[in-house]
Amino acid sequence: MNALDDVIDSLSRLPGIGKKSASRIAHFLLKNDRSVCERLCRDISVLHDSIHPCRVCGSYTEDDLCSVCSDPGRDRQIVCVVEQPQDVQTIEAVREYTGLFHVLGGVIAPLEGIGPDQLRLSELISRIQEGEIHEVILATNPTVEGDTTALYIQRILKGRNVTVTRLASGLPVGGDLEYADRLTLARSFRGRSSF
Ligand SMILES: [Zn+2]
Repeated sequence: MNALDDVIDSLSRLPGIGKKSASRIAHFLLKNDRSVCERLCRDISVLHDSIHPCRVCGSYTEDDLCSVCSDPGRDRQIVCVVEQPQDVQTIEAVREYTGLFHVLGGVIAPLEGIGPDQLRLSELISRIQEGEIHEVILATNPTVEGDTTALYIQRILKGRNVTVTRLASGLPVGGDLEYADRLTLARSFRGRSSF
């Protein structure tokens, strides 16, 4: 293995990048000015130091609070519960939703040893106990684990004086939110139903 093989090997470990794409990227980097490599290395190397979870919602931010939580224009009565920080980005890109978010950090997946305790559920309960939240939208992915997690959350929120809704169907079953097209996602927000 030479240095080029090492780069191809590292790149091919990234999600969605196969050996062929990895090779294409590595050759692109080698062919171009070294500043392209240097910039990429610099950006990646500071990622863990610069970005951390928002104190309130768990989404990624460089500050104490993320741009949504710190925005006074957001509707503080609605919280959209998602699996991962990237789901926040997906929903924000649609520009349909104006409430707040809560990132679980995963889904209940017994086979992978992930139970409710590993998700940010106590943080969600605490936010609801503050009393301002009227509606909780469950926007976990339409997968078995996503549905199981949504049902679990619905159960623990019973009797807490909040309306619980689930995104309308039309989202690709078994898929991830990030693969839904914008129109479908916007429509599923407008057509959400109580759960
Ligand atoms: Zn936040």
